[in-house]
Amino acid sequence: MDEYERQANLEYDSGYDECSVEGEMGLCYPSSEESDEEYCYAQPPEKDKIKYVDEVFNEKTAAKDIIWRAGMVFADKKQFKCAVRASSMATGRPYQYLVDDKIRIQVACTTGCPFKMWVNYIKENSGWQIKTLNNDHNCIWDYKNKLVTVMFLVELYGDKIRKNPNCKLREMQEEFKRDLKVDVCEAKCCKVRKQALSELLIEDLELYDGAGKTLISDQQKGLDKAIRELLPEVEHRFCNRHLVSNLKKINKTNIVRNAFWDAATATHLQAFKKAMKNLERHSKPAATKMKELDPSWWSKAYFKTHSKTESTENNMSECFNSWIMRARYMPLIDMLTKIHDMLMTRLHEKRDTIQQIDCVVVPSIRRKLEEAVEESVGYKVLWDGRENYVVKGKGSSFSVNLQQKTCSCRVWDLTRIPCSHAMTAIQESRQNPLDFVHSRYTKETYMKTYSYMFEVIKREEFWKDEMGDQVLPQVIVKKLKEGRVGRLCVYW
Ligand SMILES: [Zn+2]
Ligand SMILES: [Zn+2]
Repeated sequence: MDEYERQANLEYDSGYDECSVEGEMGLCYPSSEESDEEYCYAQPPEKDKIKYVDEVFNEKTAAKDIIWRAGMVFADKKQFKCAVRASSMATGRPYQYLVDDKIRIQVACTTGCPFKMWVNYIKENSGWQIKTLNNDHNCIWDYKNKLVTVMFLVELYGDKIRKNPNCKLREMQEEFKRDLKVDVCEAKCCKVRKQALSELLIEDLELYDGAGKTLISDQQKGLDKAIRELLPEVEHRFCNRHLVSNLKKINKTNIVRNAFWDAATATHLQAFKKAMKNLERHSKPAATKMKELDPSWWSKAYFKTHSKTESTENNMSECFNSWIMRARYMPLIDMLTKIHDMLMTRLHEKRDTIQQIDCVVVPSIRRKLEEAVEESVGYKVLWDGRENYVVKGKGSSFSVNLQQKTCSCRVWDLTRIPCSHAMTAIQESRQNPLDFVHSRYTKETYMKTYSYMFEVIKREEFWKDEMGDQVLPQVIVKKLKEGRVGRLCVYW
């Protein structure tokens, strides 16, 4: 612990309130009447006794004009940190935070540079004040700056990157150096571009902070962290097919695979615990691996119910991908035309098919209801006289609430389609099961979903020439082994 840290700690411990002046340079403090222009730096105070006056930091001060003074007060931590970063970039001083917690911050310069600054939290006005300061520097301009973070760059350049998503990392690097006078490595530029573009996607999809939405992804490294940052409120599930293939690396047997599926598809806590015990019995390493993951990522027992789907796989997107597989190998315009034609046909076929069927809910959901009725045979039901039912049988007992449309097995809550227990209660109450299915499964909603029509695209020869530059095929240079002549391959 050096001199400054010791002093600052002492001050902090004793509740020391006054500013102290450090370093060889004399610092003088302007009285509140004096303007910034009149203020002189590195001159002895004119008054006999130094009077420390708290100076409120002016947010409009240009970065290069920021002068640290003991006693200076900042509105909040964010304002202070922004000032440090701005000054750091404008002066080429590689500031860094040695201490950064809820009540104090220590700023230092590069190793060997005497600059030190302690800033403390002030309880009274929840501001932050410079308590001790050594404003000397012996460092030289440094282009590396840790304070220029990915988030900061995204904030500054996000819009520009989104307008030009194919911007080159080298160009970004040059721009950062030119504008901000900092060296940003290629890996960081790549992160900045990625972050900016994912924000664009979130904007396009109107996901906001993700509240009320569910996202299913594969278990890509770093993806969960990025999603937590960008969509803090979203429910994030992992595709269980990917989890199973990962689990195969630990244990290939069918028993373990089935035990995993039991845990993943368990809809309530008791069933989940039982399945996990079973998995542990068959393979401890596999169970340990699964326990490392938050169960809300992969087990129905922990899924939220707002999205009205119990889906644990990316089946929908995988199916769509395989459906358009042939088109994906075509050149760009042919590919888009092919996908357009496929979707146009599909939409009207779906619309026509459902129109011919006389039903309230769509046929696949009707089948599920019929299955629930079949399963409900053998259940006994008790009624509390209002809307609560207890359904007993097959070694278990579940409570159903017809008013709230819930069952303690959670299947009804997750899917909004009555489970076998709910079906038993509905039949007992002599009501129509169709009244208890969510409106999203009705023919009416289905028709709305497929009500959009794709406009017919004219052949390429009829297109208006308003695109500007002609789009040329991608040039791919094949790298060959040493000693062999390289060939230029043009894919068209
Ligand atoms: Zn320095
Ligand atoms: Zn149930």
